[in-house]
Amino acid sequence: MTVLEVKNLKKSFGSIHAVQDINFSVKAGEIFTIIGPNGAGKTTTLEMIEGLVPPDAGEISFGDLSWNKNSHEIKKKIGVQPQSSAMFDLLTPEENVNLFASFYDKARSTDEILELINLTDHRKNYVKKLSGGQRQRLAIGLAMISDPDIIFLDEPTTGLDPQARRNIWDIILQLKELGKTTILTTHYMEEAEKLSDRVCIVDQGKVVTLDTPSALIEQLTKEREVRLSFVDGPEAAEAANSFAKTFQSVTRTEREGPSLKLWTKAPENTLFDLFGFTKEKSYQVEQVSIREMSLEDVFIAFTGKEWRD
Ligand code: ATP
Repeated sequence: MTVLEVKNLKKSFGSIHAVQDINFSVKAGEIFTIIGPNGAGKTTTLEMIEGLVPPDAGEISFGDLSWNKNSHEIKKKIGVQPQSSAMFDLLTPEENVNLFASFYDKARSTDEILELINLTDHRKNYVKKLSGGQRQRLAIGLAMISDPDIIFLDEPTTGLDPQARRNIWDIILQLKELGKTTILTTHYMEEAEKLSDRVCIVDQGKVVTLDTPSALIEQLTKEREVRLSFVDGPEAAEAANSFAKTFQSVTRTEREGPSLKLWTKAPENTLFDLFGFTKEKSYQVEQVSIREMSLEDVFIAFTGKEWRD
C-alpha cells in the first residue's frame, strides 16, 4: 500500500533550482532513504513533503489526503524529527517529552517514548548534558510523541560516532517493527545499505535511480572497474581510451596521464579486445587490475560525484 506519493515536485529559491523534478512513492512500513550529494535538494524535498515549505509545482499525497485540503489530518499522521535547537537544553528529556506532548490532543506516554529511545536512565538529566547521540535519540522520540504512522528523519546520525550511530539504527529498526514508515536522509552509505528497504539517489534536484539496496548493488556488481597503465605513456593510454569508448559494454572511462580506468559490464571481453589492440599497436601495458564494485561506486556512477562521509 502506498502511503506517500510525490509527483513532479519543483522548488526554486531565486535562481537556484533546488528541486527540479522529484517523483517517488513510499510504501507502508518501509524505510525509504534519500541520499545525494551536498545541495542535491534532499532537505528541501523533505520540507515540502512535511508541509513546511510550499512547492512551486507538483503534487504530494498521503493516500487520499493532500496539504491543501487535509492539513489537519496529515499532521496527525506524520512525525518530524525536530532540529536539536528546538529542544530545551535546560529541561530534562522527560520534561521535553511532556512539553511536546502537551501540543497534541493524543500522545504516547512519556515512559513509553523514553523507553523506545533508550533514555529512561537519563530522563532526569539536563538535555545540555546529553551526548550528541542521546540528543538525536531524544529528537526521534519527540517525532514519535503523537504516535504517527510516517516518521521523517533528516540526517539523524550526522556527526555521531559509530556506536551512537548504531544505537540510532536500532531505534529506526524498532520503528519498522512497530509497523511505522520511515523516510530518512543520510550521508552514510553503510547506513543506507543496512537500514533501507529502498534507496532513492537524488542529484541536482532529480531522482537519478531508485531501488532496493541489493538491486542497486547487483546493478553495480555487473560492472567492474578495470585499470591499466601504459609504459608508453599518455599517448598510448589515450589511444586505448578512444578504442575502449567504442565498446558497448564500456559504460564510462577516465584517462589520467599514462593510466586508464574503465567501467565495463564484460571485463573479460573488454580486456581481450584491449590487449588485441595494444599488441597490434605495440603498446606495452605496465599494470592491469580489476576492482569489485560497491554501493559507493553506484552512487558515483549515477551522480558523477565522490561520496563524502
Ligand atoms: P545537504 O546534503 O548539504 O544537506 P541537500 O541535498 O539537503 O544538501 P538542500 O538543503 O535541499 O540540499 O538545498 C538544495 C539547494 O537549494 C542548495 O543549493 C541550497 O543552497 C539551496 N537552498 C535551500 N534552501 C534555501 C533557501 N531557503 N534559500 C535559498 N537557497 C536555498
